[in-house]
Amino acid sequence: MSLPEIKGYCPGALRPMPSGDGLVVRIRPFGGRLQRAQADGIATLSAAHGNGMIDLSSRANIQLRGVSEHSYGPLMEGLGHMALLDETAKAEARRNILVTPFWQTGDETEHLSAKLTAALTHENAPDIPKKFGFAVDTGTVPVLHTASADIRLERDAGGSLILAADGLDVAKPVTVDTIIPEAMALAGWFMATRGTHNRMAALIAGTTARPTGFFVPRQSQHYAPAPGYTPFGAMVGLAFGQFTVATLSALAKQGGLRMTPWRMLLVEGARELPEIEGLITDPEDPLLRVIACTGAPGCAQGFAETRPVARALAPRLGRSQMLHVSGCAKGCAHPGAAELTVTATPTGFDLIKGGRASDTPTTKNLTFQDIQKAI
Ligand code: SF4
Repeated sequence: MSLPEIKGYCPGALRPMPSGDGLVVRIRPFGGRLQRAQADGIATLSAAHGNGMIDLSSRANIQLRGVSEHSYGPLMEGLGHMALLDETAKAEARRNILVTPFWQTGDETEHLSAKLTAALTHENAPDIPKKFGFAVDTGTVPVLHTASADIRLERDAGGSLILAADGLDVAKPVTVDTIIPEAMALAGWFMATRGTHNRMAALIAGTTARPTGFFVPRQSQHYAPAPGYTPFGAMVGLAFGQFTVATLSALAKQGGLRMTPWRMLLVEGARELPEIEGLITDPEDPLLRVIACTGAPGCAQGFAETRPVARALAPRLGRSQMLHVSGCAKGCAHPGAAELTVTATPTGFDLIKGGRASDTPTTKNLTFQDIQKAI
């Protein structure tokens, strides 16, 4: 297989993105789930064709890093063999779907995520912007409100299905038969109304335009993700959302894996897990409250390594403090504000309290030792 034309945005498997450590190949597991054999196969492919490091992204996708132009073809053949590829790059880019990890085989959530996948990969689907996404959040209560999505499939307080536009606190009543066509119609409304806006919440905040038929109050989210056992399996954390092939193949022995946007995986049906290196199982572990991007040298734009800095600083955090370490002012891993942000610059580190990676620093040009004293 020859290497496709590489664009510098929106990486996928069919459209990889060049990075400081080779190509980034992003796999979007169908239905937000990997079967055991698929998880094990991805570990094998990462070891053979990547650098053995795997990321779980904030959009609940799996990224293989360190793929060379030479190894890209065999990797794609392997992914295709495991039914992990879309038919076209366009279909892959549109299939931007988060799924609550809390579902049972054969229930409405599984059914709706399959139907939404079919609708979005159909050739007549709306040509939505690259970061525009969907959340199938149809468990008893919503759990994905803090994750990025523009059109949300949820339930109201009485358990009935509703369709929500991100940024609106009322939703449209729908049925299991109408919710997918209504979701496509809402995407079409967005495209017809958006002007220069690329995201639903920005459109709602920036204009008085509203879709019709939205009047049912949405439920608030009170769910706080944490490692531990759930009725659906074991939730485990991954520092910085990164893990090794050894961790992934050990997890694959325990069950199918459900992706989440919280740097956590749900191991289906697991009631107890053996010791597996690289997992966070203690809900009090401060690494759960530290976010760090790839940084240098994996990202060519990074001015410093981020994850060793983040690991060293984690034990110094207070019980509820959150820290973001960013390799540059772009702040890819956490676009929002954090209690503490450390941004690498050409001249050291900046410390920003209560702001984003690009905000005016509280203190500038610090060494690592200075940062340790300041936190
Ligand atoms: S924040 Fe900067 S260094 Fe970190 S991944 Fe993004 S571009 Fe790279």
